[in-house]
Amino acid sequence: MEFEHKISVLGSTGSIGTQTLEIAREYKGISIEALSAYSNIDLLEKQAREFLPKLVCVVDERKAKDLKIKLADTDIKVVTGTQGLNEAATVSDAKTVVTAVVGISGLEPTIEAIKAKKNIALANKETLVTGGHIVTRLANENGVKILPVDSEHSAIFQSLQGCHNKSEVKRILLTASGGPFFGKKRDELQNVIPEDALKHPNWNMGAKVTIDSSTLVNKGLEVIEAKWLFGTDNIKVLVHRQSVVHSMVEFCDNAVIAQMGVPDMKLPIQYALTYPERLPMKNNELDFIKYSSLTFEAPDMDTFYALRLAFEALRDGGIKPTLFNSADEAAVDLFLKGKLSYLGIFEKIEQAMNAVNNIKNPTISDIFEADRLARETVYN
Ligand code: NDP
Ligand code: MG
Repeated sequence: MEFEHKISVLGSTGSIGTQTLEIAREYKGISIEALSAYSNIDLLEKQAREFLPKLVCVVDERKAKDLKIKLADTDIKVVTGTQGLNEAATVSDAKTVVTAVVGISGLEPTIEAIKAKKNIALANKETLVTGGHIVTRLANENGVKILPVDSEHSAIFQSLQGCHNKSEVKRILLTASGGPFFGKKRDELQNVIPEDALKHPNWNMGAKVTIDSSTLVNKGLEVIEAKWLFGTDNIKVLVHRQSVVHSMVEFCDNAVIAQMGVPDMKLPIQYALTYPERLPMKNNELDFIKYSSLTFEAPDMDTFYALRLAFEALRDGGIKPTLFNSADEAAVDLFLKGKLSYLGIFEKIEQAMNAVNNIKNPTISDIFEADRLARETVYN
């Protein structure tokens, strides 16, 4: 019998969103209830005509009006704004919501989806970084699963299959490619321009996560994401240049279980949609002979000190991870516009984290206020 699954994809026009739809194209049993974009209505229209969702959301209001006219010959409802994104996240028949929007904009629709008892295929790591304590509690209360899409977290999740007792886990070994500037020191990074930072050696991703990979901010966000997904802050980062070992779990008897594969997001996305089943995947076999050696090194947290700041945010909790995340979102925006130097990204994050007093156990409004204050610090 063909596998059947109704899903909604938030951020369907992005890197993760389009790869999710490639999987849906392959497995006809996956049907699409809702799609969303920020403003790319040309691609969203094509996706809507192909997958015939009940509803599409365009966050940008003007673009939403344009799409409504373009889709007038169909029954597809077009909604807009954050309210519209929440509607896309809660569309009645979807069983799982793939959260592939970028940034803290993922937090609110994910919470709404959980309240509507949807499982979450979580790509948007910023959701757990900023609101992990609220999101994991709500998921428990509503009996929904949060299935990781991020490749490292999928690897950890896969390595934990068969582990019956959480207390047997000693620590998580989170791998990092090291990005395009691995081995460089601070004085060599002074003149980095966006084009350099956008060239990732192994992965093809959206602009923000690509810059974050080069600064190791992405790894910092992933450390915090891992704490919420797997309930431990015993997490060690290892630079693994080949991106073949996607992460590992070390158990109390020192056994280490790893998940390996080619660097491609298709498998983690597919596993989040088909779990606990596995479905065949064309191509993408791992050729061990091609990778004659697999190497592991310690990250350089003096040069790429955003990773150290992320560990501090993890330790302090409260709104510190939000300050870390939102300062980075704003700083990367400025860097991509040519208004901030590369090393300025690190400085701005540190400034924002020190500019605001911590709040323990923050509410959603505390988190959004911390987000606002961090952005204000960076943009001013
Ligand atoms: P992209 O930039 O490629 O795509 C982002 C998507 O979100 C697009 O559909 C975009 O619409 C939409 N979007 C942008 N801004 C907003 C907003 N303010 N509100 C609502 N929607 C918005 O990102 P990625 O696919 O690379 O990443 C998505 C998430 O997945 C991120 O959290 C990232 O960290 C995570 N992730 C990504 C990986 C990857 O390989 N790309 C790997 C692991 C995790 P539009 O096209 O109209 O701008
Ligand atoms: Mg990752």
